[in-house]
Amino acid sequence: MSYVDEVLERVKRQNPSQPEFLQAVQEVLESLRSVVEKNEERYRRDALLERLTTPERVIVFSVPWVDDNGQVQLNRGYRVQFNGAIGPYKGGLRFHPSVNLSVIKFLGFEQIFKNSLTGLPMGGAKGGSDFDPKGRSDREIMAFCQSFMTELCRHIGPDTDVPAGDIGVGGREIGYLFGQYKKIRAAFQGVLTGKGVAYGGSLARTEATGYGLLYLTQEMLRCNGHDLSGKTVAVSGAGNVALYAIQKAWQLGAKPVTCSDSSGWVYDPEGIDVALLREVKEVRRQRLTEYVKARPGAQYHSGKGVWSIKCDVALPCATQNELGIEDAKLLVENGCIAVAEGANMPTTLEATKYLQEQGVLFCPGKAANAGGVATSGLEMSQNSQRRSWSFEKVDGKLQEIMVGIFHNLDAAAREYGVEGDYVAGANIAGFLKVADAMLAQGVV
Ligand code: NDP
Repeated sequence: MSYVDEVLERVKRQNPSQPEFLQAVQEVLESLRSVVEKNEERYRRDALLERLTTPERVIVFSVPWVDDNGQVQLNRGYRVQFNGAIGPYKGGLRFHPSVNLSVIKFLGFEQIFKNSLTGLPMGGAKGGSDFDPKGRSDREIMAFCQSFMTELCRHIGPDTDVPAGDIGVGGREIGYLFGQYKKIRAAFQGVLTGKGVAYGGSLARTEATGYGLLYLTQEMLRCNGHDLSGKTVAVSGAGNVALYAIQKAWQLGAKPVTCSDSSGWVYDPEGIDVALLREVKEVRRQRLTEYVKARPGAQYHSGKGVWSIKCDVALPCATQNELGIEDAKLLVENGCIAVAEGANMPTTLEATKYLQEQGVLFCPGKAANAGGVATSGLEMSQNSQRRSWSFEKVDGKLQEIMVGIFHNLDAAAREYGVEGDYVAGANIAGFLKVADAMLAQGVV
């Protein structure tokens, strides 16, 4: 049995009820076969793949808090510090009822390669809770965040682990988490990214994941003889990533026509009105039905279906496994030429394979959405220097990083004989740096 297959068997045996984690490990290891075969003896002797697929530390804790009725509520908190070979752990916190250990481990594992691809010194981690912020008052959100940080603060620090936001954790939550950290540790440190600009946050961090996704998509299209300008774009999600992806798509001359949330989706043939979407989702925190009420030409559909619209480019920006094989078939039938993942693992393995076989340009999330964590890295640099850079400077660096990531994974795919397979290219490019660092640091 090959070394990759042996490790896949071992991971399956050791993590029997963690489907998302197994899916992520399988995708990565399958695409590393050619690299691993070239170095099999060394990697095997150092148990490199076993160590790479096992988190360095998993922290699970209880998060008790009091709701507005005086009732004590209990949630579960997680921080998975997956791999610290190339820098302090870095990765977001997700607050969503679907959060469990499998989801956090899959996200932490992906984060290792994503962080490596940015070229910045950051290890891979992820955390979160099964807490559902929807419908909770500000006071309840604050109570939850304070209780969560009361435990988490023992495990993080500017040189050890620097969390950020993710689904359900935006500027408000980061603010409450930061306040509690500062109070308990009596130190004002760059321990979270995605902070408000008034207290150490970076300009352009809010926009970074969505903007970065479009910078990379534009470069991928350009290098394959297409122009993003004039293209129709389907976007899913209506949160942070989706919103700024839609905004940047407009700015680059494309026309974004859809968005979605967990209840339904919107098709706006005139193109999504960014100001209205932001008002509905970010300010009023309402459902998408409110968007359509204010925009008579737009259609609202409940449930799934956002990928049934004719488009040139599809950008899944909501959540994992939201684009399955039937969706992929519809996209191909409708002439879609490129898919780039704004969310983490939004496309199932089967759908990814199908899209690639059909010649659709496909860029995986660990590269396409790396703009968020890259800009978090830039926020850490600014915090260390106690300086703050202009929006244009950060945005310029982001653009440079995203274009660089695309060329890096394109080159890795060519070097290992899988030209045009950007999934393999991203995994290989991300992996090589981490593997070198692990080997150099010995058995630790
Ligand atoms: P937000 O919480 O801001 O938005 C998430 C969006 O996805 C919402 O519109 C939400 O709808 C929708 N959504 C969530 N769960 C589901 C579901 N099960 N089915 C359908 N829709 C769903 O999160 P972000 O925009 O920050 O994150 C989106 C994705 O991007 C995630 O995969 C995240 O890991 C990834 N990502 C985010 C980064 C960032 O910087 N924020 C960086 C890199 C990746 P509803 O409001 O109804 O829940």
